[in-house]
Amino acid sequence: MEENNKKDSALHVKKGVEQPESVDNSAIARFIGKKKSGPTVEDFVQGIREGSITLLSKAITLIESSLPEHHIKAQKIIEKCLPYTGNSLRIGITGVPGVGKSTFIEALGTMMTKAGKKVAVLAIDPSSNRTKGSILGDKTRMESLSVDPKAFIRPSPSAGTLGGVARKTHETIILCEAAGFDTILVETVGVGQSEVAVHSMIDFFLLLQLAGAGDELQGIKRGIMEMADAIIINKAEGENLQKSELAKREYANALHLFPASESGWTPVVDICSAYTGFRIHEVWNIMEDYFQLTRENGYFWKKRSEQARQIMHQTIQTSLNDLFYYNPEIKPLIHQLEQRVQSDKISSYNAASILIDKFIENLQNPPSQK
Ligand code: GDP
Repeated sequence: MEENNKKDSALHVKKGVEQPESVDNSAIARFIGKKKSGPTVEDFVQGIREGSITLLSKAITLIESSLPEHHIKAQKIIEKCLPYTGNSLRIGITGVPGVGKSTFIEALGTMMTKAGKKVAVLAIDPSSNRTKGSILGDKTRMESLSVDPKAFIRPSPSAGTLGGVARKTHETIILCEAAGFDTILVETVGVGQSEVAVHSMIDFFLLLQLAGAGDELQGIKRGIMEMADAIIINKAEGENLQKSELAKREYANALHLFPASESGWTPVVDICSAYTGFRIHEVWNIMEDYFQLTRENGYFWKKRSEQARQIMHQTIQTSLNDLFYYNPEIKPLIHQLEQRVQSDKISSYNAASILIDKFIENLQNPPSQK
């Protein structure tokens, strides 16, 4: 090719981009050449244990995948990572869109990494529609944290059933802990269901609120407030400061009406400004106090073991449900029986019995072996 044509040619070779230091060469190098099958379970576990963000992210993608082979691989990785988990503090942060969750996580997370903590930010939003509204765990909304080498931000898995998203988040927590993250911040939108799900996987639950919306207690569901270990009124600066102090007193009064918690902890109400950094350190101190108290009185471990038991049962329920409803012999029968139930030809109870009997018969005597 002639020299003067070179610059117009698509074959023109551009100068390469320097590889950033954050790219973990050793972990990647181990699976170069295994491109087709990807890294093995052992590659994943070793890489995650060494803190490779690349392999951690890939493993989380396997957790989120709907392909059965990915699911199986992910479970093997999780199982092998389990011995290295359990030592982090898992903190749930919730509040309505616009209350300042991302800004708060950015402020708190940055303060924590400066103090030497390794912070993972995960998000739960089963209703998430990526084309509209704010995206939880969105990196662009956490500018410093997203480039902080001591932080890892993973946006919400795409919409799915609440049970599915909760399980994926719990499994992601396990991998993050194995990768050395000692503080896990789980962000949810404060609109109901997802808080209950997140409550089954976190140690401390923080509700962010705003002052000055007229009746302070209108906006939050009682159930969410009852779950909160701390209610923090954000945007407490300037003209809003006084209103925030007032709201703090109202919330504190309302909390007195709730029954005492088994943890021995009395929920705390405070104010902060995620934007200016006002009282963010105090909020962190509240969490530290909680962890100290619940570790000393044993509640911390009791809650964790109860959560593990609950997750086992949730997983059994979800798996049995899937086995039943996706069984190729059962699937077409369900529709038929639904129609018969709806036209009063058979009782709901009998229809369910027929389906379950058929399912058990198939399990004992699979069609392929008949
Ligand atoms: P999220 O939807 O709950 O994650 O809320 P964001 O963190 O995205 O914040 C929503 C808006 O409130 C943004 O414009 C923020 O800059 C602003 N904001 C967040 N925290 C504060 C605060 O403490 N004070 C003020 N004045 N604005 C804030």
